[in-house]
Amino acid sequence: MAKVLTTCIYCGCGCGLYLISDRMKLIGAYPSQNHPVSKGCLCVKGWNSYEFVNNLQRLKKPLIKKNGKLQTVTWDKAIDRVARKFKEINKKHGPDALGFLSSAKTTNEENYLAMKLARAVFKTNNVDHCARLCHASTVAGLTAAFGSGAMTNSIEEFENAEVILVTGSDTTEQHPLIGSRIINAIDKGTTLIVIDPRKIELAKHAAIYAQPRFGADVAWINGMMNVIISEGLDAKEYIRERTEGYEELKELVKDYSLEYVEKIAGIPKDKLIDAARIYARAKKAMIVYTMGITQHTTGVDNVKSLANLAMLTGHVGFESTGVNPLRGQNNVQGACDVGALPDVYSGYQPVTNASIRKKFESAWGVKNLPDKAGLTVTEIIKSAGEGKIRGLYIIGENPVLSDPDSNQVRACLEKIEFLVVQDIFLSETAEYADVVLPAASYAEKDGTFTNTERRVQRIRKVINPPGQARADWQIICEVAERCGYKGMNYSRPSEIMDEIASVTPMYAGISYDRLEPFGLQWPCSTKEHPGTKFLHKDRFSKGKGTFSPRPYIPPNELPDEEYNFILSTGRTYWHWHTGTMTRRTSTLDREVPTAYVEIHPNDAQGLGIKKDDMLRVSSRRGRIELKARITEKSQEGSVFIPFHFKEAAANVLTNPAIDPIAKIPEYKVCAVKIEKL
Ligand code: SF4
Repeated sequence: MAKVLTTCIYCGCGCGLYLISDRMKLIGAYPSQNHPVSKGCLCVKGWNSYEFVNNLQRLKKPLIKKNGKLQTVTWDKAIDRVARKFKEINKKHGPDALGFLSSAKTTNEENYLAMKLARAVFKTNNVDHCARLCHASTVAGLTAAFGSGAMTNSIEEFENAEVILVTGSDTTEQHPLIGSRIINAIDKGTTLIVIDPRKIELAKHAAIYAQPRFGADVAWINGMMNVIISEGLDAKEYIRERTEGYEELKELVKDYSLEYVEKIAGIPKDKLIDAARIYARAKKAMIVYTMGITQHTTGVDNVKSLANLAMLTGHVGFESTGVNPLRGQNNVQGACDVGALPDVYSGYQPVTNASIRKKFESAWGVKNLPDKAGLTVTEIIKSAGEGKIRGLYIIGENPVLSDPDSNQVRACLEKIEFLVVQDIFLSETAEYADVVLPAASYAEKDGTFTNTERRVQRIRKVINPPGQARADWQIICEVAERCGYKGMNYSRPSEIMDEIASVTPMYAGISYDRLEPFGLQWPCSTKEHPGTKFLHKDRFSKGKGTFSPRPYIPPNELPDEEYNFILSTGRTYWHWHTGTMTRRTSTLDREVPTAYVEIHPNDAQGLGIKKDDMLRVSSRRGRIELKARITEKSQEGSVFIPFHFKEAAANVLTNPAIDPIAKIPEYKVCAVKIEKL
């Protein structure tokens, strides 16, 4: 038996764990005792993070569609087909007829190569990944406020905070190890404030729990700031020395009286006053949020408003303070960092800047890199439906289940001229592919992931991939080479990281030998730099922090007479995203084997619904049928559906309306009707 230290494949906590193998088969996982995040603990997904790797349904050979059926072919034929077809589309219709979806599940090195393939080989910036669907609003909002879109502080700092404000994050379900850190902090004396439309587990531990209406975040945050300013609790010296735009903010929040906020958000005045006083008076106060804040048509406004609140009270730039967006997937932070985004290269260096383009042209040995931002995930899929994107290369993503308005996504994928899917299983999206390329899982390759606290850490090869499956980085390099590009000739992933470090200032000091044993937190600017525990010490990354006053704008689609409930979607503790891995893990699948809809007891009683009754949930975009779960976790007048289950896919119902800046869809609010079957 062998045991190898690696990083969990599931959430952005980035726990360190050992995978145990016996004769090239994974047989177990257990936590690292000394890892700074896991500290001897894992959640149920981490403990079972080995099982799906052994699943017999793993893709083992390349496939090409012939006469409507996917058939086994050699690697040579598959790579040749991809290269030939992409070159042909490029020649006939131009580079922007191609699109590339990279993956927050794959490594930093692979995401870097995916964007290099799109940009250096095919000369398009149409490259994006699923951060668009979860934290694009964070990247846009926090970059505008602070100059960096990442979590400002570290996970270990939660336990020393005086106050933690959790909003739009079901932390114990989505980021279990951070959830337990918050509970530990409460045991040590931290005051918890929870402001969330769903009565999440942490609400039971909160000194103050307020339940706002869905999509009313800007209103209650402005209301809190109004209380803080009118009671003189704003951090005047900090605001004067470190920020700009305060007067405009003060002017706007004046309009958010307690009465007005109560009318919009439904939060009683006294609760909002108490929350404002506790948060503002604390010496060390941390904000935690996730997709309850970001997945709205006002996602960027919501994030900017939280940044306003933190700067107003001087709670950024010190230990155990800050604004902390918890990243969802294992490497969504890293995929953004290394440039799998349509507007930036690695290190968030804009594609529109001529000197940055020149730097990458020289590093990659190419000319004429494209100078305008490319299309986002949602735009790429929509453009495929309109016949503008003709060739699409999807690595490890499953838009058929993960993107809003699934029926429309399927219709778009059907229209596409040439679709390549590279994955470890034949996903719902792979069924539409012309070519399927079998990839290695995280246990079958080397590389790095960057967790939510900016910690770049190693994953290591434990066993060989099944059949002929190959690591994503190897496949991408072969496609590039077959297209005639000579600049992707790496013998191991550490060489790719060395290249990333050479062109990416915030990763400049990172190399594999320095990542032992538990990684480094960026920014890490030189080979001697120890990494950075918290951001914006003494000054913001952009110089002065910028207040952005934002007015309240309601969600795009609210209930009416026909569609009279609000639908919100999200994950459960037991499953992960589109279920590709967790539904192939018996322990997890046994606990939650199929889809369900959560409904408040009063609504259930009104509709004569009992536990496990089958319900039909319909929106303007489609309908699904699933079992009822009756729980006070759901707010009255709303229902919640986890989006993991293909047999009742929540995204058949969701609204594709997007935030105008971040282009993130409004997964958290749409109107549905409920019928008992
Ligand atoms: Fe994995 Fe996240 Fe669970 Fe840690 S908390 S074991 S990273 S899923």
